[in-house]
Amino acid sequence: MSFTTLGLSPALLNVLSEQKYTKAYPIQKSAIPAILKGGDVLGIAATGSGKTASFVLPLLMNLQNNRVTKNRHVSVLVLVPTRELAVQVNEVFSTFAPALPKPVKSLAVYGGVSINPQMIALQGVNVLVATPGRLLELVESKAVHLSDIKTLVLDEADKMLNLGFKDEMNQLFALLPKKRQNLLFSATLSDDLNQITQFLLNNPLVIKIAPETNILSQIDQVAYYVLEERKGPLLRYLIKTKKWQQVLVFTSSGFKAEAVADKLIKHGIDAEAIHGKKSQWVRTEALRQFKSGAIQVLVSTDLLARGIDIEFLPCVINYELPRSPKDYIHRIGRTGRAEAPGEAISLVAPMMSIILKSSKKRWGAWSTALKPKTLI
Ligand code: AMP
Repeated sequence: MSFTTLGLSPALLNVLSEQKYTKAYPIQKSAIPAILKGGDVLGIAATGSGKTASFVLPLLMNLQNNRVTKNRHVSVLVLVPTRELAVQVNEVFSTFAPALPKPVKSLAVYGGVSINPQMIALQGVNVLVATPGRLLELVESKAVHLSDIKTLVLDEADKMLNLGFKDEMNQLFALLPKKRQNLLFSATLSDDLNQITQFLLNNPLVIKIAPETNILSQIDQVAYYVLEERKGPLLRYLIKTKKWQQVLVFTSSGFKAEAVADKLIKHGIDAEAIHGKKSQWVRTEALRQFKSGAIQVLVSTDLLARGIDIEFLPCVINYELPRSPKDYIHRIGRTGRAEAPGEAISLVAPMMSIILKSSKKRWGAWSTALKPKTLI
């Protein structure tokens, strides 16, 4: 479906065509008109399905006529779980905003870097994309006020509403006006979160593009049963023989990510590790270099499992399986994005498969998520 009938301005339609967005993806077709009307939305759509533009475009339109003019009082707040995702979502706002007749200023704020430049940059900001901890610090130092928020967006909503962010989210909810538009987006939403979303959303339009466990059909999934000590040689063999330009490898700890990257480098493969213990500068630089193609292999913890968009990434490798089938879906969703094909390879140690199979319930969930076409 073309974007022209969705209620977007000619200025935005021009940028869409410059960006080669020729047709609206299903989530965009449903969400854009609803958000333009000011309604609440719960969007459950597979990762890489164009969720970001589905809220960025209508929110930019709405900000043309309806925005807070008081300095440091933002109109739109987008909360995300990771610093990398904050930068990425803000980039989408920055791609489309300059085309509009009335300028919209957006900013990403996140921890791990100095707070002072963010405090200064908050002057005149309309759209704030933030991770919760840093946002609270900025509110405490009165660099930003949330009392006039018109729209709250929770990207990766299930992550934002689960236990890890509970205290920070409760503090933030208390600072927001009661009357506001709420937009929740996620690729997965567990049953226990259904109640919270019902409490948060007011008569929402529920858009469910694909069932939660339905992984994009264009991702080819393969699992290799391999002894732990043979994983390194198998990884190197796959990287060398498949000739992928870029590979994202997931491990379950930062320590392991470093060890895997070191081994790859020792064998002449251009690799870098990324995890929460690295400085923000190093994290940003590693991701930038990987996205630009300067590094062939990026080895990461689940830090990069959510939302991160790497154009045409051909392959994701689970060096170790993640904790849950839901995390698996997020991880492999880094490939096969924007309707491109992708490959997801999991290296499953025999011990792991025994552990999983020992619990019927656990194995049931895994066997639905991990549906490899080939089991080697
Ligand atoms: P997202 O799910 O928002 O991370 O988007 C995934 C990728 O799809 C990004 O690289 C977007 O630039 C791209 N994208 C989003 N919508 C469209 C569209 N309608 N046409 C082409 N590419 C798109």
